[in-house]
Amino acid sequence: MTRNAEVARVLQEIGLLLEIEGKDRFKHLAYYRGVRSITSLGEDVESVAKRGALMDIPGIGKSLADVIKTYLETGEVRILNELRTRVPVNVLELDSIPGVGPKTIKLVYEKLGVTDIESLEKAANQGKLSSLPGLGEKTQKQIIEGIQIVRAGLERTLLSDAISVAEQIEKKLRKLKVVKQLTIAGSTRRRRETIGDIDFLLDATDPKTVMEEFVKFEGVATVIAQGPTKSSIRLESGLQVDLRVLPSESFGAGLQYFTGSVDHNVKLRSIAQKMGLRLNEYGLFKNEKKIAGDDEEGVYKALGLQWIPPELREDKGEIEAAQKKKIPTLVSMSDIRGDLHSHTDQSDGKNTIEEMLNTAQALEYEYYCVSDHTQSLTIANGMDESRLLKRIDEIDELNASGRWKMKILKGAEVDILADGGLDIEDDVLSQLDIVTGSIHSRMKDTKEIMTERVCTALENKYVHILGHPTGRLIGKRSEFEINLESVFETAQKHNVIMELNAHPQRLDLNAGNLRAATKIGLKIAINTDAHRISELDYMRFGVYQARRGWLTPDDVINTYPLKKLMRIIKK
Ligand SMILES: [Zn+2]
Ligand SMILES: [Zn+2]
Repeated sequence: MTRNAEVARVLQEIGLLLEIEGKDRFKHLAYYRGVRSITSLGEDVESVAKRGALMDIPGIGKSLADVIKTYLETGEVRILNELRTRVPVNVLELDSIPGVGPKTIKLVYEKLGVTDIESLEKAANQGKLSSLPGLGEKTQKQIIEGIQIVRAGLERTLLSDAISVAEQIEKKLRKLKVVKQLTIAGSTRRRRETIGDIDFLLDATDPKTVMEEFVKFEGVATVIAQGPTKSSIRLESGLQVDLRVLPSESFGAGLQYFTGSVDHNVKLRSIAQKMGLRLNEYGLFKNEKKIAGDDEEGVYKALGLQWIPPELREDKGEIEAAQKKKIPTLVSMSDIRGDLHSHTDQSDGKNTIEEMLNTAQALEYEYYCVSDHTQSLTIANGMDESRLLKRIDEIDELNASGRWKMKILKGAEVDILADGGLDIEDDVLSQLDIVTGSIHSRMKDTKEIMTERVCTALENKYVHILGHPTGRLIGKRSEFEINLESVFETAQKHNVIMELNAHPQRLDLNAGNLRAATKIGLKIAINTDAHRISELDYMRFGVYQARRGWLTPDDVINTYPLKKLMRIIKK
């Protein structure tokens, strides 16, 4: 892998920032010229730099050559750091939006304080762009569409879909005796909500055989490349999968490098540099001597760091924590003792209660909560009070039958009505073990109304859990407008648990909100919201998301033994 694209990005960012700052009328043009030269360069810019020939590249003068050389050697450039401080705008992100260029970025930054895609979207949705000189209603509309295109195009495959394909490929390739090490890297290893490409890393005695098998994978639409060190396929789903060969002695360094994220790696490289070391995908080097790189732990250790779980590698404080040996022990699948949100064919589920229980039992759960929808959700055949009472009796009998080792908990997913009230009478709610309150209607309420609605529901003494708190469906429906800070405060005051809905399209709360919630001491329930037996497997995606939110077992109530769970959940 060459570093050409990476270098081009650095030059592009400097050029954009210079143009936006506007101090020099021409300097940015030299950087844009540099971007074009590096992008069309037929060889690895790093090799060119090593033989001191950067200035032989057409379009690269003395100052650009210095910038490129410094960046390649240290992972940092002073001019870029200074520009980023003076002009704190995510220019690369904004520039990638169709219909948005440097002039627009400069305008919205100066007039509206727009610094990234989120603030641009907000300004556009509030109609603030159309009033700026040179922009109009039509441009504003184009920008909104452009943002959607960027979002959809950048990352388009749900983690669950990517993982399912990746695991099939892995299983197939592992059967080959020549494979020594095979690992998924990239955003799939970091368990991002959505994935661009899948990256595999391979260490094999005979990589060629593995490549041959790889390009024959069923579901391949095109073989993009097949070479001795790297092959790429595109599947019928549109998903690209890369397989890259690494030498054994560099496998750890390569795994670290190709796992990312870019921001995490940039910071690691600068730490290495401060220690007088050089870090790249081949290893950690002191002068020309490799001091780490065959395994990933060794790389982190040599940099004075604890090993960092891939889910945390987003440069969100994990490197600083690893320096202080303060990386938390994250929750894992083996900690999970039960599932507190699931449906049956009594509402909109596809399986009977017994089928769901049998599957849950096979997962060796200690407890399992059946929580069908309630009456106002008519499209889901929601239960009214009399049906719920019958269900309560039924579960009592099932528990008494001794057929299941786990405790079956009596629950319901109750609708939060327009005024924050619930659609089931208190005297019935009081007979349930766990009540989850959820928003399923009027999702376009204003922020004030929605926040008020949800907070009112949380004040109800029978609501234990707030289900899928932001209502989003990844790639389909954005979060509804809600002031989560107020929701969290109210939840804390009234001892309400936040749900982390593990459905791969929900993953609601997201990682940042999970971190914010647990920071103030809220507890989380990771629930599958399964509507059929196969969906009980969604628990793993909830756990991945929980790890991305830095959650420990203590943050997650369904890691607790039953007695403790019931004590904690009580209002
Ligand atoms: Zn729901
Ligand atoms: Zn549900």
